[in-house]
Amino acid sequence: MNYNKKSVEDIDVKGKRVLCRCDFNVPTKEGKITSDKRIVAALPTIRYLMEHGARVILCSHMGKPKGEWKSELSLKIVADRLSELLGKPVIMAADVVGEDAKAKAAALKDGEVMLLENVRFEKGETKNDPELSKKLAELADVFVNDAFGTAHRAHSSTAGVADYLPAVCGYLIAKEVGIMGKALADPERPFVAILGGAKVSDKLNVINNLLEKVDTLIIGGGMAYTFLAAKGYSVGKSLLDTEKIDYCKDMMRKAEEKGVKLLLPVDTVVAAEFPNPIDGPIEVRTVAADAIGDDVEGLDIGEKTRQLFGDAVKNAKTVVWNGPMGVFENPTLAAGTIAVAQALADSDAVTIVGGGDSAAACEQLGFADKITHISTGGGASLEFLEGLELPGIACLQDK
Ligand code: ADP
Ligand code: MG
Repeated sequence: MNYNKKSVEDIDVKGKRVLCRCDFNVPTKEGKITSDKRIVAALPTIRYLMEHGARVILCSHMGKPKGEWKSELSLKIVADRLSELLGKPVIMAADVVGEDAKAKAAALKDGEVMLLENVRFEKGETKNDPELSKKLAELADVFVNDAFGTAHRAHSSTAGVADYLPAVCGYLIAKEVGIMGKALADPERPFVAILGGAKVSDKLNVINNLLEKVDTLIIGGGMAYTFLAAKGYSVGKSLLDTEKIDYCKDMMRKAEEKGVKLLLPVDTVVAAEFPNPIDGPIEVRTVAADAIGDDVEGLDIGEKTRQLFGDAVKNAKTVVWNGPMGVFENPTLAAGTIAVAQALADSDAVTIVGGGDSAAACEQLGFADKITHISTGGGASLEFLEGLELPGIACLQDK
């Protein structure tokens, strides 16, 4: 995939009607926005467009209305919050591509902003229906995609509309693609990737693709036990993808052939049972990775492993991290994840965190501002690391 895409700065937007796809899929509770982070993140692109005299038509999805009008998923609350943040009115359309949206889009003046209703109120959106894509395109002269979180989906408002309009990216996508694209295509070395999370099967292609690129691949979290099993160790009651043991053997072989250092846990924190509730009290001890008893479950990486992984990060120039090292939702089992977050925070390397839970962990633990880039899209960043072409990015004009 070509990561060098035209952005809003590469085109003339003055007097143009610009359809800008944002990620306004904000969390809400009882009709109120509980975090406006995503709206704030969209401001640079919106402000740029307004200041350069564009007629800005914003669109987004929120939740899963499944093609039906659901008043509780109306974007009106987003328009109100956006208006407060911009200190300017934001015109709210009563529909997505209906009479009201068309009339309001046609009446927009240079520098004005409007927001269409939730694009997923339209049945065609998630089907990437050309009819809907065309109707969206008819509202505007140019398409700007700035929603990284949905860039791995080929929907009408994320990709389909680009069949009918010149398409470029906004600042958010430019940043995601710039930093992650560079890391994957032309990384400063040593390049270290750290993978964790629950299961090997969630990240099969990520492991395979990263082995083509990195100098060191670190495996922790629940997925590590299938690798340990592939080494012939018994893993007790730990998470095990039995069907993936051969795959793990293949990956260990591939790492050796490629000269990639593959680091696995050398010790692990175990307990008699998985914590219930997940953040409830739990009694743990640490055992060597080749001495996990039959009656225990591995729930975090041990102290020696934290040291080993931390040392690998220390020497790196580029670090990509996806997936927690243990059941970090439990304070007793969060030390491994905290240690990795700390190692990234202390490092001078370009540090990139992708994946919903790892990003959340960084933020909860207060490391977010010490990381070069925390991806805003869990699923999208995973597909990026898999080396897949993201439809919402592939559809944009190359520089
Ligand atoms: P991300 O969203 O960052 O990609 P995943 O969704 O793949 O991460 O995995 C996160 C989940 O993995 C967390 O809920 C965590 O509790 C779980 N997990 C991590 N280590 C273990 C383990 N040893 N055993 C069971 N679950 C684990
Ligand atoms: Mg997750």
